[in-house]
Amino acid sequence: ALDALKDVVRKIARSSSIDKHLVDEVVKDIQRALIRADVNVKQVKEITDAIKKRALSDEPLKSLNPREHIIKIVYEELLKGVGEGLEIPLEKARIMLVGLQGSGKTTTTAKLAKYFKDRGMKTAVIAADTWRPAAYDQLKQLAESIGVGFYGEKGEKDAVKIVKKGLEELKDYDMIIIDTAGRHALEDELIKEMVEIEKVAKPDYKFLVLDAAIGQLASKQAQAFHDAIGIDGIIITKFDGTAKGGGALSAARQIQIPIAFIGSGERVDDLDRFDPAGFISRLLGMGDIKALLEKIERITQEEELDPEKFLKGEFTLKDVYKQIEAMNKMGPIRKIFEMLPLGMSVKVDDDALEMTQEKMKRFRVIMDSMTEEELLNPKIIDGSRIKRIAIGSGTSPQEVKELLKYYNTMKSLMKRMKKGRLPMKGLKMGF
Ligand code: GDP
Ligand code: MG
Repeated sequence: ALDALKDVVRKIARSSSIDKHLVDEVVKDIQRALIRADVNVKQVKEITDAIKKRALSDEPLKSLNPREHIIKIVYEELLKGVGEGLEIPLEKARIMLVGLQGSGKTTTTAKLAKYFKDRGMKTAVIAADTWRPAAYDQLKQLAESIGVGFYGEKGEKDAVKIVKKGLEELKDYDMIIIDTAGRHALEDELIKEMVEIEKVAKPDYKFLVLDAAIGQLASKQAQAFHDAIGIDGIIITKFDGTAKGGGALSAARQIQIPIAFIGSGERVDDLDRFDPAGFISRLLGMGDIKALLEKIERITQEEELDPEKFLKGEFTLKDVYKQIEAMNKMGPIRKIFEMLPLGMSVKVDDDALEMTQEKMKRFRVIMDSMTEEELLNPKIIDGSRIKRIAIGSGTSPQEVKELLKYYNTMKSLMKRMKKGRLPMKGLKMGF
């Protein structure tokens, strides 16, 4: 079902013009694809509403054609829909896997062990599923075939004891992955055992293993496990065999737990770290969208303001220029300051920041008459330079001074924001 998203991209790419009709059609296609893939209905609505709204109102980046513009919006909104991935640093750690029976825990334990071994970590697994008789042999065999450490006790019924001893035996290993028992549902007994293992193992990561085929049910299941022991990340398995994978993806988003890995086959190599951007690109058809993404990356670097620099207060008139361009897209700067967290908000007590379209144009004309040196270092602009610039741009010295005042106000605001440790992330999009 998610495969249908590739067709949507192709449809956009082949369209002769982008109008409301096409946008409506595209939004419907995306809705259908997501719903069929079992993505939560409310989320589908959020994603497609956002696409529709932006498609009809966002100002396109200059160097993108209208088709590319729409594809970019689709890509960005879907990306928002899956949330962030979870990066696991290659450091000494313990991982505990939980999930229902048959979800793929034991297989995933082995896959993860291979993943970390391949990245140079001394890795071992602990077989703590004492409920399923074959579980010990299954994991032991897998561990041997991959060449990682193994601890288990055949016939021992006390999983907590196994974990305790296993951790002692395996203390020289960097990465230890604990496979636990699953049941058909989250029964009291399973919860109790899980909680006890957790206490003993003190895992750095508790991963919930979710079978992609359960679709919409994923969110209830994930929530239940999360309530019981607190989940750090989700591993979605069997993504290869189902059209309902959207259910697990959207469950992760709903309960705000990152997706760490995706399993897409029975072999120990069939595990990928969940990389949201790569994942969405593939859904939309890598070949079709890769070049576009590279182009956007390039343009964004050229066209947009560098937020890091912007906030460091190394703020020149050149930045004002870019900022004025950016403002066309994002609305008055005053609004942006109003969105800052409380306590950090800056009081803008005069109308120095009020920018009309007319004024923006005048400012640009004025800046066009400045030298590179003046743009980069506005301090040097003295009375005689002001006169020269005013004459050159067909404006008045008064207006040039007004621009300089605007620049100075912005600059001091930037400084104050910097002191307040502005959450860069939130602002990044705009500038
Ligand atoms: P557990 O009961 O949670 O330990 O589940 P298992 O690890 O024993 O896996 C149950 C079944 O699912 C096995 O037949 C696995 O081969 C299969 N399986 C696990 N992960 C995947 C996957 O990503 N793709 C496919 N196609 N099968 C998988
Ligand atoms: Mg198992």
